[in-house]
Amino acid sequence: MQKTLSIIKPDATARNLAGTINSRFEQNGLRIIAQKRLQLTKAQANKFYEVHKDKAFYDSLCEFMSSGQIVAQVLSGEDAVTKNREIMGATNPANAEIGTIRRDFGESIEHNAVHGSDSEENAETEIAFFFSGLEIME
Ligand code: ADP
Ligand code: MG
Repeated sequence: MQKTLSIIKPDATARNLAGTINSRFEQNGLRIIAQKRLQLTKAQANKFYEVHKDKAFYDSLCEFMSSGQIVAQVLSGEDAVTKNREIMGATNPANAEIGTIRRDFGESIEHNAVHGSDSEENAETEIAFFFSGLEIME
């Protein structure tokens, strides 16, 4: 079983969509093995998205990600990283397949409802950013 880090972003928690989005993961065979609701500081968002620090959207993204509550979660399943990316859909909701979370709930390329790790290696780093081993129910 593989693990991946998922975040329900502030645009989606503001619309009370956490449960609706969680049911998408469960219906598609992913298991939520850790979960917490929190609000990042700007500095924490800067750190989490450090890989994007040279991108034009970095500052706006970090402002957005620290603007409200998020739900951070560890998802587990076969090929969880790739499977979650499929369930999420493309970064820009306008390009995401019908039936994906971003197509159904994303509002814009920035306010796109969910984050998901893009590789097994990054998943490990991102999971460790939010969770201690004790909090993850393997
Ligand atoms: P993904 O979340 O699909 O892995 P990226 O890692 O490329 O996409 O980008 C991280 C996040 O930054 C996206 O989910 C989105 O919220 C935001 N973002 C990406 N590209 C843009 C853009 N061109 N303009 C504004 N925000 C963007
Ligand atoms: Mg990414």
